Amino acid sequence: MRIVLAPAGSCSCRPSQLRFSSSPGFFRRQPSHSPHLQEGTAWRSSQAGSCHAARRRAQVQVRAVAAVRQAVSQHAPTDIEYDAVIIGCGMGGLTTATQLAAQGAKVIVLEKYLIPGGSAGHYKRDGYTFDVGSSMMFGFGKEGTTNLITRALANVGKALATVPDPCQIHYHLPSSNEHPDGLDVKVWRRYEDFVEELSQRFPHERAGIKKLYDECWAVFNALNSLDLKSLEEPRYLLGEFFKHPLACLTLVKYMTGNTGDYARKYIKDPVLLRFIDIECYCWSTVPADFTPMINAGMVFCDRHYGGINYPKGGVGRIAESLEEGLQERGGFVEYKANVQEILMEPSNSTGAPSRAVGVRLGDGRIYRGKTVVSNATR
Ligand SMILES: Cc1cc2nc3c(=O)[nH]c(=O)nc-3n(C[C@H](O)[C@H](O)[C@H](O)COP(=O)(O)OP(=O)(O)OC[C@H]3O[C@@H](n4cnc5c(N)ncnc54)[C@H](O)[C@@H]3O)c2cc1C
Repeated sequence: MRIVLAPAGSCSCRPSQLRFSSSPGFFRRQPSHSPHLQEGTAWRSSQAGSCHAARRRAQVQVRAVAAVRQAVSQHAPTDIEYDAVIIGCGMGGLTTATQLAAQGAKVIVLEKYLIPGGSAGHYKRDGYTFDVGSSMMFGFGKEGTTNLITRALANVGKALATVPDPCQIHYHLPSSNEHPDGLDVKVWRRYEDFVEELSQRFPHERAGIKKLYDECWAVFNALNSLDLKSLEEPRYLLGEFFKHPLACLTLVKYMTGNTGDYARKYIKDPVLLRFIDIECYCWSTVPADFTPMINAGMVFCDRHYGGINYPKGGVGRIAESLEEGLQERGGFVEYKANVQEILMEPSNSTGAPSRAVGVRLGDGRIYRGKTVVSNATR
């Protein structure tokens, strides 16, 4: 936004043209040639005894500049009660916000940083775009229910063009007796190609490899038929159980299992078992024995089903598009909004538990909401 204030009157001490421009979070004063109209200073005539009219005009103009400045650097309103105040403008906060806004809720997202996306944001330097963290994106598939990014964007009328990744991970692992030149395996987008490549490296384990990864598909197919939400939410699980009893029973079967146990059921070669450990580690940052089978089912199969796809323009385009969709639905994103306190309504005499009713920012602003959601993870 750019606002130009035209020169005032004909007084000899008139201020020259002032230009104010704002980009998100900034209100910048471009060089003014007038020494008389400075931010926070009272207008002073350079000529003692200049006419009162000119002085009044100039004072009015100072007030106008202040009003414009306030308007341009305007914050999201603090005098309303939002349906939801959401802390953190990462993928979690934005997805929550857009889903609520798509249902007609009045939402504000508060972000302490300057850009959306959090760990899945991007920034630009010298014409180049750099991803902040995430760069290998699941969730852009076209079918099923695991295409969470596609569906989150569609919720607010957005879609992004993507570039499919033909090979998700290229493992270069150290040499062993069986693989003196090191173990080289590519996880191809096509499931059959990957299983074939791994089986060629471990021909004696061909059947076990197929059985293990096929078992992962049983988990994935169950997940991919549910309306995916938190598997830790009993009410949601109960609802899904009535809609998809078989899928839910399948998940119950795998719920407590770890990938290490399933791997050892089918595979004996210790080098291959270590490979499965590394496969798990890449996603869950823990070895197979600590990786729930539910997680392995999801990532070992969705990389072939929905695939890994890179959004054109950078990973941050996902967050930017969600933010656009949110704003188009009347939602707000407030940057440089460091939430320091969640305001609680004390429990009343009936013994009702206290509840969150708003937040206080570092600069003292207060945003009130019927619900407060914190997705402030870093
Ligand atoms: C280096 C790295 C690489 C990754 N690579 C991949 C990958 O390739 N594929 C993949 O799927 N995942 C990857 N991930 C994981 C993925 O990026 C994260 O799981 C996901 O982005 C987390 O989103 P989030 O919204 O939950 O949290 P975050 O992205 O952490 O967002 C939280 C937001 O809250 C804000 N915040 C914190 N405190 C406050 C406060 N007090 N007031 C206001 N705002 C606050 C933060 O500034 C931040 O913007 C990677 C993560 C990292 C760090």
